[in-house]
Amino acid sequence: MNEKWIEKRVDEFLVKPNLIDYAREYQEFSWDNIANEFDGLPSGGLNIAHEAIDRHANGILADKTALLWLGQNGERKTYSFSQMKKESSKFANVLKNLGLSKGERIFTLSSRLPELYISVIGILKNQNVICPLFSQFGPEPILQRMQRGDAKVLLTTKKLFKKKITPILSELPDLRYILLLDSDKDESETVLSFSRLMGEASDRFEIPPTDPEDMSILHFTSGTTGMPKGVVHVHKAVYTHYMSGKYVLDLHRDDIYWCTADPGWVTGTSYGIITPWIHGITNIVDEGEFDAIRWYKTLQNEKVSVWYTAPTAIRRLMRIDSEPTKEYDLSHLRLIQSVGEPLNPEAVVWGKEKLNLPIHDNWWQTETGGIMISNFISQTIRPGSMGRPLPGIEAGIVRQNDDGTVTEVSEPNKEGDLALKIGFPSLFRAYLHAQEKYDRCFVGDWYLSGDLAYKDKDGYFWFVGRADDIIKTSGHMVGPFEVESTLMEHPAVAEVGVIGKPDEMIGQLVKAFVSLKVGYEPSDELKRELIGFGRKKLGVAVAPKEIEFQENLPKTRSGKIMRRLLKAREMGLPEGDTSTLED
Ligand code: ATP
Ligand code: MG
Repeated sequence: MNEKWIEKRVDEFLVKPNLIDYAREYQEFSWDNIANEFDGLPSGGLNIAHEAIDRHANGILADKTALLWLGQNGERKTYSFSQMKKESSKFANVLKNLGLSKGERIFTLSSRLPELYISVIGILKNQNVICPLFSQFGPEPILQRMQRGDAKVLLTTKKLFKKKITPILSELPDLRYILLLDSDKDESETVLSFSRLMGEASDRFEIPPTDPEDMSILHFTSGTTGMPKGVVHVHKAVYTHYMSGKYVLDLHRDDIYWCTADPGWVTGTSYGIITPWIHGITNIVDEGEFDAIRWYKTLQNEKVSVWYTAPTAIRRLMRIDSEPTKEYDLSHLRLIQSVGEPLNPEAVVWGKEKLNLPIHDNWWQTETGGIMISNFISQTIRPGSMGRPLPGIEAGIVRQNDDGTVTEVSEPNKEGDLALKIGFPSLFRAYLHAQEKYDRCFVGDWYLSGDLAYKDKDGYFWFVGRADDIIKTSGHMVGPFEVESTLMEHPAVAEVGVIGKPDEMIGQLVKAFVSLKVGYEPSDELKRELIGFGRKKLGVAVAPKEIEFQENLPKTRSGKIMRRLLKAREMGLPEGDTSTLED
């Protein structure tokens, strides 16, 4: 056992984990058994909205809080499963009465309001497709996505409508209605009041027979590596949501669960809406943006037990020198999971030291619809590793051959493309209007993720980098993650992005962009110190040769470091699509 690994003792858990014997669970798992966890529609088929809300509202959980909403300014609202059923049925009737038919796309552009969550369920009930946009997008990225996604209806607020939609409205001739969530009267024949429509709609709605293969969600990717892609998901993806909620989030009926992601990103829908409700769990939605004190208070006051967040948030908490467990009562918290980009080992250990719980890293993509690889609550964590594949998921490292086929790499610790065997229910069904791009992701029975990784002899997967970010220097392949994680160990470093800068002598030179923790100032001396630090830990070939200090690194609005922008700016090249770039 490596001294840095974090071991778990099953007898120490107050709540018995759902997964204890990984090997057995993995071996015995079958998707057919998961099917038994669902009700199915009375009228036939499978619909996410029924499984997430209606079946609980029809049973013993009717009065249980489904949604606990925390408003930006301290308001607090709760909705039971029964209320969610009625409200979402009203919205399904609204859509039906407006003449929306199966498969038509409904876009949302709103902050995290309760109406947004009600609408998502209503949209699925009427067999429309939900396409959530991040409310901080400007007009151009909104237009681009609505055009590409064939938007028929947009749900938004008065302010966002005026500021972001009016300038682009003439370019959206197929958009039939705009529903304003916070307006009590219609503004025109096509710009309607959500509350007026809801007030007139019946709260009874029978979900029509839904094929598990019917389209449910259209999600645009984060745009970290280029133009965001429109990813198509179907109702059957809910199998993966159930399974990952059980094994990764370890959901139990009494949990209070908080996912910090916005539904504008796939984590915010798969795990901020669907998964907790599939499990009949109270789901916290915080309208506010990141704020360390607010977040710690929410964890404390709402007695959060399972918390799903992202490396960018963890790094921001790490930046502040505080002792959260002394200042707040976090005793209800029993599991922290993280996704979105690589989680540096430093962050895993920080959790253990400062929150009394290590952070568990997991890996997936918009395309996979749900978590694929994870560190599990009951299993040893190898900090820096993404963990092992979930039951029902076969992951492998493959190499592409010259003839277009791929071969799985059987030797441990050898880098290659991270791939998944097709056949699990939540794998995307299309890139909307981009068939060729979609087809290129598949070779034989593998889906190629576009990420590079390796697998150790015990089956733990280690992220190396995105294929686009890999650095070729003096004949070596260097993954930025390894270099970034090492620099993160230096006490002055808050955040790092590493790129390969073209160099005549060595192909590419490893360059690190560093933002410093509070209390540290950029200086040539510190640069030299960091270069020396890197060399000592990584060796001369891999260590950064250049360091540049930046107060803030360019990130997507979901918090991912955009290495492609660091690189474009370094080389003076066009920046490409910046629609998801944080302000
Ligand atoms: P785009 O495809 O538009 O460039 P994106 O890949 O960032 O954007 P998402 O689907 O939101 O869009 O993100 C998935 C990607 O995020 C993964 O392919 C991987 O590169 C990265 N990622 C997610 N979780 C992890 C993790 N735990 N460790 C390392 N990388 C991760
Ligand atoms: Mg991607």
